[in-house]
Amino acid sequence: MPVNDIEVHDPKILANARSILDACQSAQEMQQAVLDAVKRNETWRGQQCINLLAPEAPTSPTVRALLGSEIGTRAAEGNIGSVQRWFAGTQHIDEVEALCVELLKQAFRCRYADHRLMGSMLGNMAVYYAMTEPGDVIMTVAQPFGGHSSNRYDGPAGQRGLKIVDVPFDPIELTVDLDLFRKLAPLVRPKVVTLGLSMTLFPLPVREMKEVLQEWGGKLFFDGAHQAGLIAGGQFQDPLAEGADVLTGSAGKTFGGPQSGMIMWNDGALTEPITHAIFPVLAATHQVNRVAALAVAAAEMIAFGKDFMAQIVRNSQALAAALDRRGIPVLGKHKGYTTTHQVIADVGALGGGLEVAHLLARANLITNKNLLPRDKPADWDRPSGLRMGTIEVTRLGMKETQMDQIADFIARVLIEQQSPNTVLEDVIEFRQAYQKLYYCFDHGLPA
Ligand SMILES: *Cc1c(COP(=O)(O)O)cnc(C)c1O
Repeated sequence: MPVNDIEVHDPKILANARSILDACQSAQEMQQAVLDAVKRNETWRGQQCINLLAPEAPTSPTVRALLGSEIGTRAAEGNIGSVQRWFAGTQHIDEVEALCVELLKQAFRCRYADHRLMGSMLGNMAVYYAMTEPGDVIMTVAQPFGGHSSNRYDGPAGQRGLKIVDVPFDPIELTVDLDLFRKLAPLVRPKVVTLGLSMTLFPLPVREMKEVLQEWGGKLFFDGAHQAGLIAGGQFQDPLAEGADVLTGSAGKTFGGPQSGMIMWNDGALTEPITHAIFPVLAATHQVNRVAALAVAAAEMIAFGKDFMAQIVRNSQALAAALDRRGIPVLGKHKGYTTTHQVIADVGALGGGLEVAHLLARANLITNKNLLPRDKPADWDRPSGLRMGTIEVTRLGMKETQMDQIADFIARVLIEQQSPNTVLEDVIEFRQAYQKLYYCFDHGLPA
């Protein structure tokens, strides 16, 4: 086998995979190597870790089962309906997809929704394709304030050939600097203003910003990848009701469904450009098993979203306060730390985000490094922040008391400097009591 030296991937990990395959006597043994690695992850991340990754959500047993269903082996492209499909035999697929579309409209209280996006990243591409021309100016939030690459030069917005001006952001209040926006936006007259935050703690002035844009017919795009579940559950601002023209979301973040994208809007004039961007531009066969799983996740959100999301927010507020009490600085303290599923700690003085996240992972506490407003683009690999989220611990039935215990595990590693190995045993034992997923029709609400 040739050894490639122009890989983007870690060469040691690729070399290890080659040596595993070289040691196999047959292709079936190679298959077994794959199955074994999947099993190792299931045991470790699925049963023994406290997963605090903010963009991650375990799905209900029904949603997970649907991802392996027969319908996922069928081809369906185009719009729902026998004339608009290329293939015959799609009548039950049409039923499933139509149920998904209508459930999404109910969950988000909106007039239009599309189910065919394989990721929220593609939803953002669809928005830029539908609403801009190359060379247009848009305004989006820079990464140190929580902005996402999909709305910047390195992602779909850049690929569309757009010129990007930063939305002014207040590093202390952790929301848009509205006064500055009111001065800057009329000078720039952006075609689209995007509010898309991967680090999201507080509501944004959607209504006020849309009023500014009315003057020249600019559109407001709310990229709610992270907040989609909170929005559906009524525990965050409702961007469409406040005047946003289009809303995208990741189904696999707070929404708690299969990893993929969703897009919602109210103005019928946007239907043709948005759906044309999805098909035939960005999606052909769009994984109908995933669509079925998304439909069920939307039904779960309609039934359990309010309770689930309210507990997520209570848990993140409890976790933030508990970390702060133990000497770990948390952003947004003067505003009650957070109104979402996220908690952002400043770990610059504790070794930095990269070091801290890897140290905590040795104790089965899974988090991620994050840029903070004070970081520079050069700090990308070694930023000062640590991002935590409470989606999974909440779905496992944990409440405020358990957030205090989790803060204790984190502080034992970071403040008391106990060896991660000592803390690891206690984390595994603690996690043993939480193996069932709630806020779904399989298991209902936690006790
Ligand atoms: C996660 C994220 C995305 C991308 O979502 P995927 O579903 O992973 O494609 C887009 N925008 C923001 C703000 C995000 O945080």
